[in-house]
Amino acid sequence: MITDAAVAAVIAEETALFTAANPRSADLARKAAAHWHRGVPFHWMLDWGTPFPLFVERAAGAELWDVDGHRFDDFCLGDTGSMFGHSPPPIAEALARQGARGLTYMLPGEDAVAVADALAERFGLPFWQVTSSASEANRAVIRWCRGITGRDKILVFNGCYHGAVDDVFVDLRDGVPELRRSLVGQVYDVREHTVVVEFNDLPALEEALATGDIACVLTEPALTNVGMVLPDAGYLEAMRALCTKHGTLLVFDETHTISSGYGGHSATFGPMPDLFVLGKPVAGGVPCAVYGFSAEVGARMERCRAEGETGHSGIGTTLSANALAMAAMRACLTQVMTREAYAHMLALGDRLAERVAQVIRANGLEWHVAHIGARGEFICASNAPRNGTEARAAMQGPLERALHLFLINRGVLIAPFHNMTLVSPATRPDQVERLAHVLDDCLKTLIGKSQ
Ligand code: PMP
Repeated sequence: MITDAAVAAVIAEETALFTAANPRSADLARKAAAHWHRGVPFHWMLDWGTPFPLFVERAAGAELWDVDGHRFDDFCLGDTGSMFGHSPPPIAEALARQGARGLTYMLPGEDAVAVADALAERFGLPFWQVTSSASEANRAVIRWCRGITGRDKILVFNGCYHGAVDDVFVDLRDGVPELRRSLVGQVYDVREHTVVVEFNDLPALEEALATGDIACVLTEPALTNVGMVLPDAGYLEAMRALCTKHGTLLVFDETHTISSGYGGHSATFGPMPDLFVLGKPVAGGVPCAVYGFSAEVGARMERCRAEGETGHSGIGTTLSANALAMAAMRACLTQVMTREAYAHMLALGDRLAERVAQVIRANGLEWHVAHIGARGEFICASNAPRNGTEARAAMQGPLERALHLFLINRGVLIAPFHNMTLVSPATRPDQVERLAHVLDDCLKTLIGKSQ
């Protein structure tokens, strides 16, 4: 049993420790506050629970160094952007090479052919397009699905996250859809065109699809942004069948579940979607994302645009598929995200989940550990959540903050938003052991203070 008082005491102690140990970061934070809104170039950088942000000096492989000289075992990996390691040499070399040959032309080069071949071979879908972020890929896909089906609505699952995509910021509260409370400046009621149901609830999905007005179901194969919610056995296959039956397109956003195995969750476990989205790590951390689709969807996309129409489609931005991103993506797909890399990541991901579960058990806690390949999550509650409502209820804000701070102060980074860990091809077993030991120390401290 961990008490609120123990959590508050650890947060206070660890905040003081962080402040004392990071004078250079504190100084840079003060200076940065002169002209950056809230002191950072991007506000998510404030989400780590630290009194001011760590300023990074450099990162390599699965390690990161801050400006005060601390070394970190990095299990956050830029929240997936560097899930295949920081600056893998083939990507760093490709970037240096392309850097001297022009960064963006709005024309393809030879890399375009190699990348398309690699995408089709790996993910099993024949046609592809590039965007600058996963958010943008999801927005494009939603637009295409509405365009080609002529249907207004999309369906997402409670607790989902697909990036800065306003259409999907709809939550279920006590079964009632409401706009996500944190959404800023949205004046349209997106609930008119977005249906939200619970994950793993087939009757609710069937009822919604039977209306015949849903253009697409957009989901991750497992929800990974609300803790982690795994699909029940057979659930995704049933979802696939229902979509086909009701003429609804199935979109898998595999930006996070790319951790499942070579080719992501779809290619590893099935079923195949009609459209597929992957962002973040696909170009090693250079802004870039892709979406792929079946031949049938491609043909419908072709028919959807009026003959000869060349005006603004609402899809794409100027720097999409620029030469730098394409060079990075080619190196990433062909030399970094390899089958050998996955063999290492999957084995070490299993080991990490096992060690975290052991530590939790050894401290007498009944917390749940889930993982999909190289992506792990521990949930500070006993049962595996089956949907977004259960997953939200399991979240323990202050306790998780205390854990994160304790880990950061001892050289371990995990994703700040919940308790997510990533294993890269560069992650070593000794790093996993250190994570387990620091977590053990943290739990012992919290439990000790609770008595
Ligand atoms: N899809 C999923 C599943 C994500 O987790 C995220 C980001 N966490 C995104 C899309 C959006 O990625 P980006 O912020 O790079 O656009």
